[in-house]
Amino acid sequence: MRAKNPGRAKIFNRFRNRILRWELGIQPRHAIDRIERRFTFLKKKVLPKVIIAYFKLLTNSWHTGSRFRFLHGTKTTVCPFCKNGPDAIEHMPKCDIVRQLFQRFGCSCSCLIQFFALDQFSFPHKFVTKVKLLSVLFSVHNSINSTTTPMHVNHLINAAVSVILQ
Ligand SMILES: [Zn+2]
Repeated sequence: MRAKNPGRAKIFNRFRNRILRWELGIQPRHAIDRIERRFTFLKKKVLPKVIIAYFKLLTNSWHTGSRFRFLHGTKTTVCPFCKNGPDAIEHMPKCDIVRQLFQRFGCSCSCLIQFFALDQFSFPHKFVTKVKLLSVLFSVHNSINSTTTPMHVNHLINAAVSVILQ
């Protein structure tokens, strides 16, 4: 980690293991470098809440059913968007509803590294859009109720339009 910004380096080091738990298909060192570069880029481009949602995603801090099952031994819950897969970050790049949302805004999302916007094609082109879409997923995921019907993608698109225009 470069000592350019010791405070930020300390934060990344603290969460390093959480970030590196993902199977991204790139060297851990490259993953950390890319993440650091992306957070520097995001400063002053998006609201703090968008940065926080992205940071929480990368550090596996979203309140998914699979994370709670790991922490508390509870039952697995289903994806709140499609109701057709586990409520887990690893499912999201495969989720029909999430994919439709990304496609609607011209963003690719077919594997975890693309979902995290850590692939080389997601930066800088489309990066801000992608991170805003992730923040929409984060807030909708947090506020979702326990209905059994899948969410219509338009619900997410409408939420995303207002965030993207901010
Ligand atoms: Zn899903």
